[in-house]
Amino acid sequence: MFSSSGYLSGFYNVELHHHLDGCIRAQTVRDLANEYDIPFDQDKFDEALKHVDSLVPFLECFSMFLPVLQGNPEAIERLAYECVEDQYNNKVAFFETRFAPFLMLANNESSRDFDCEQTCCAHDVVDAVLKGLERGEQDFGVRSNAIFCGLRGQTNWLTPLTRLLKHYQYHPKVVGIDVAGNENLPWSTEELDLTKNMYRVARSLGYGCTIHAGEQGLVHNIERALDEIKTHRIGHGYAVFKDEQLLSRCFEERVPFEFCPISAKVLSSLGTKFDDPNNPILLGSKHKLNFSLNCDDSLFFGNLQPSIKICQDVLHFSEEELFRIRLNAASATFLPENEKQKLVEHISQRK
Ligand SMILES: [Zn+2]
Repeated sequence: MFSSSGYLSGFYNVELHHHLDGCIRAQTVRDLANEYDIPFDQDKFDEALKHVDSLVPFLECFSMFLPVLQGNPEAIERLAYECVEDQYNNKVAFFETRFAPFLMLANNESSRDFDCEQTCCAHDVVDAVLKGLERGEQDFGVRSNAIFCGLRGQTNWLTPLTRLLKHYQYHPKVVGIDVAGNENLPWSTEELDLTKNMYRVARSLGYGCTIHAGEQGLVHNIERALDEIKTHRIGHGYAVFKDEQLLSRCFEERVPFEFCPISAKVLSSLGTKFDDPNNPILLGSKHKLNFSLNCDDSLFFGNLQPSIKICQDVLHFSEEELFRIRLNAASATFLPENEKQKLVEHISQRK
């Protein structure tokens, strides 16, 4: 079942940009709403899912289904477990999933991180995710790690999130930090300072750092991410092609980009049609940029395999290019160096 490197034999996909909550199965949303008697308008949700074509309806969908998870560690564990099963069905050997611990709390609990006896706190959320991932790994053999995620504009989460990083620094499955949300939101001095501090603490504790930048926003957001926030990887980053100088720098420094083709197509993040010769993902391939392919949120965009297939079918990515992309992904994981080498060896078995 496993190769000598410890990964599932015959499984060569690696996914880096996977939002745990956005990868919930539609059926699981229905089941959980029924099971826990949560008010939920099924028809409205089904209809909303059909009309996700830009960022606003996309974010609205989250607010519709998040109540089935919030404050419920059992539901969160099931979500994480099922994500591992879905990755097994997509021939994924290893993935990193990101989630916002404070988004998974019920509203009245949203500023708590520790010291809660009665209600679900951020600790319980994290432990539920890790338990689901571990149980999934035992049953399916797909290995995974977790990345904590902040949300733009949620300045009040940044200090407790930084504390959470310190708390889990020795947990082998907690490996990184991310900030998602609307990257075009203006930064207050407080939010920027606390974000920079959180990334500084994360780096000092040995965490990997990624951040959503240049998805639908300005190219400057990528520069800020690299120079001020000092991230290791860029989530999306399609805007890099708007600036020749930045593009050459990212090529020279081999900055890893996490591209999400179907997500970018559906949410119109590319600035071009998908089959356009200037599609940033196609340009990324031509320039041999260091990027991986990812699903982003499978509830909306399907799992990883369709995201790879669209690049084969429409952008005509060769087997050789797909191999290069899988190697990029393996090399950009937040695994410890020796573990990363094993994953790279594993991926290299299939050229
Ligand atoms: Zn994302």
